[in-house]
Amino acid sequence: MPSAQNDLTSTAWDVVIVGAGPAGAATANTMAGFGQRVLLVDERVSSSFKLGESLPPASIGLVTRFLGDLERPERDLPGLFRTAGNASLWGTDQADVSDFFFTPTGFGLCIERLAFDEALRSRAVAAGATLLKGARFESCARIADGFSNWQVTLTSGMQARQYRARYLVDCSGRRAVVARALGVPIIQHHDQLFAYAQWYSSTNKDDDRYTRIEAMPHGWWYSNRLPGAERDQTRRLVIFLSDKDLPAARMAARSQGFDQLLNDSTFIRPLLHDRGFHPCGEIRGAPANSQRLQDFCGEAWMAVGDAAQAYDPLSSQGIDKALRTGSHAGHMVHYALTDCPPGTSALDSRNTHIHEYAEQQLQLWQTYISQRDYYYRVQPRWSDQPFWQRRQRRDNSDQENFR
Ligand SMILES: Cc1cc2nc3c(=O)[nH]c(=O)nc-3n(C[C@H](O)[C@H](O)[C@H](O)COP(=O)(O)OP(=O)(O)OC[C@H]3O[C@@H](n4cnc5c(N)ncnc54)[C@H](O)[C@@H]3O)c2cc1C
Repeated sequence: MPSAQNDLTSTAWDVVIVGAGPAGAATANTMAGFGQRVLLVDERVSSSFKLGESLPPASIGLVTRFLGDLERPERDLPGLFRTAGNASLWGTDQADVSDFFFTPTGFGLCIERLAFDEALRSRAVAAGATLLKGARFESCARIADGFSNWQVTLTSGMQARQYRARYLVDCSGRRAVVARALGVPIIQHHDQLFAYAQWYSSTNKDDDRYTRIEAMPHGWWYSNRLPGAERDQTRRLVIFLSDKDLPAARMAARSQGFDQLLNDSTFIRPLLHDRGFHPCGEIRGAPANSQRLQDFCGEAWMAVGDAAQAYDPLSSQGIDKALRTGSHAGHMVHYALTDCPPGTSALDSRNTHIHEYAEQQLQLWQTYISQRDYYYRVQPRWSDQPFWQRRQRRDNSDQENFR
């Protein structure tokens, strides 16, 4: 009897999607919905944490399209709650509240991130995609067997297996493993922003529904109450962002230094103190710089989500971008595969649909960069500090829609 693994290796896939985060799940869902044979792979079987928990009002419709009504109990997204807006100490030392009440949906959402990503993957499988967990992308090689354009090598444990596909989609997040294997450089955009995350818990009630943001001389903080309280514990995430080469970043990596930096916060520190929060678990670090690929697509491959372009968390747009561009990519690759019979080439940006995707990526990037630069420039304090010097000098146009 052939094993399930052998079935997967002997199938000629229309597309192999590397990475089953929101971008991979959305691309898989869209393409499987068109009847394409989709293999969605992720190196992880499970994760212990993932950063990125808030969805702005503008994302609600999109998320509902992929997951249905998020607030229905059977969605199994524990503790998800509606958020009311952002409260920030940014350009001045006076708190500024931007209320979601005045947006078309009237609220944003705070999600339990691991459950959210899992729900997206389940929907992709329900749409017909095959999900392979615990399989790490190692390499890919061009082939021409009359149908497939790629032979993709994935490893599970010590075992390497080959899979064939017409098209390859890189949804592997900031690491952009497929693009890098193909020699496409990642362009780091001006900054070395890095996030240091500490979880807190308390037995006291915390019904805060605002994302708290505070600019500091060496970077900035943000904090969200988290869904999914267990055993009467309330959880909160506090994140410090600074450039990795600055001394503050080295401090933030250790709990003593993190605490020392937090002592200077006039917005987040008192909130933690008043509600009896204590740190739990260790500080986790994650890159948060702005980066993009030099090329978003090439012959029979494209990158989607953070693999294509990754944003500063100030934007709060990462999940939205992953889902939106996943949907767009899924449509465009489906149309391109339909237009080009197997065995033919021209699956690069000479193809109208692939070209349209690449153009859209470029436009998104330009909009993002001008928004990001605007938001850093409207914080005029600490112009003698390297973190702000690096950002306040940039010259760009006025934009909206950040946190
Ligand atoms: C500090 C911080 C805070 C953030 N806050 C928010 C927020 O509040 N709201 C928001 O919308 N966004 C936020 N984001 C951004 C958001 O989390 C990302 O933009 C989003 O996860 C991107 O989705 P993705 O599917 O492109 O990539 P990812 O979610 O990173 O998924 C990539 C997947 O690829 C897999 N993978 C990687 N390498 C391989 C390999 N070799 N083989 C197989 N699989 C592989 C990984 O295991 C992973 O599952 C934040 C980011 C940071 C750093």
